[in-house]
Amino acid sequence: MFRKTLIALITATALTFGAFAHIRAQSSIVITLNFEYIRQGSAGVISLSGVDMVGGVVNAFERTYPFFPVTGGFAALLAAPMDQRIREYPITVTVYRADGGTLNWEGTVKVESGEFIREPAFSIPSDKFHLLDMSVQENEDARLSSIYSVVTPERFWEGQFSLPANAPTTSPFGSVRDFNDGSTRRHGGYDFRMATGTPVKAAASGRVVYARGLDIHGNNVIIDHGWGIFSNYSHLSQIFVVPGQIVLQGEVIGLSGNTGRSTGPHLHWEIAVNGVLVNPLTFIRLKLPT
Ligand SMILES: [Zn+2]
Repeated sequence: MFRKTLIALITATALTFGAFAHIRAQSSIVITLNFEYIRQGSAGVISLSGVDMVGGVVNAFERTYPFFPVTGGFAALLAAPMDQRIREYPITVTVYRADGGTLNWEGTVKVESGEFIREPAFSIPSDKFHLLDMSVQENEDARLSSIYSVVTPERFWEGQFSLPANAPTTSPFGSVRDFNDGSTRRHGGYDFRMATGTPVKAAASGRVVYARGLDIHGNNVIIDHGWGIFSNYSHLSQIFVVPGQIVLQGEVIGLSGNTGRSTGPHLHWEIAVNGVLVNPLTFIRLKLPT
């Protein structure tokens, strides 16, 4: 289920004093793509192992994904946007070496279908009809994408991410939605059916970066987990946290509700990786590097 690529074999030769013996130290840098392909709206792990590296970046889908230090090397989270067309794409891995040099590996990465569905038509009640206005949508998209584009090098989480609640899922990530104003939009998160007032838990430890109302997402909490990973909890009836606060995995951050562009009490849950919205249910099953 993964591809390994040896990108460089570095040979260092040293001469011992007064002798003719050479000490040959050989080292190599290995790039591992821990996946066969990336689904639309999903992430995959790329690992670097070897010595004399100080970091690096992956370039793909016209985006840059940084490497972070992990046990035995570095790792990057490559995320494909939900609307990325299904085909093969060029990918470049750049490794920064301790001596100031760089190494480049060029390959390909395949994007497969996110298997998205089309949902039954959505009917927004007349008192929330203004929330379908395209300028409202664009303002909110811009605001969220500026939050999600931050990359905090510190890693706050440990282990895997967990569900924000034990509740039945309803509307899946990436679904195509037709609204009663004739517009069609994509679903950026996963929905859980939850009565108003149900506790909502942090999916992983992190720092709260947003805790207030938004037109569409309603009362909204966003947690920065580090490494460019954010989780977002929307339509809340109450918020219990403030920006800057460190929260632990499983900590109750608010109560579910029906605020914003919502047609009934539920929790809308998003995860963004390096600025790309990904399927949260797929993401929590991804084996993250440590
Ligand atoms: Zn939703």
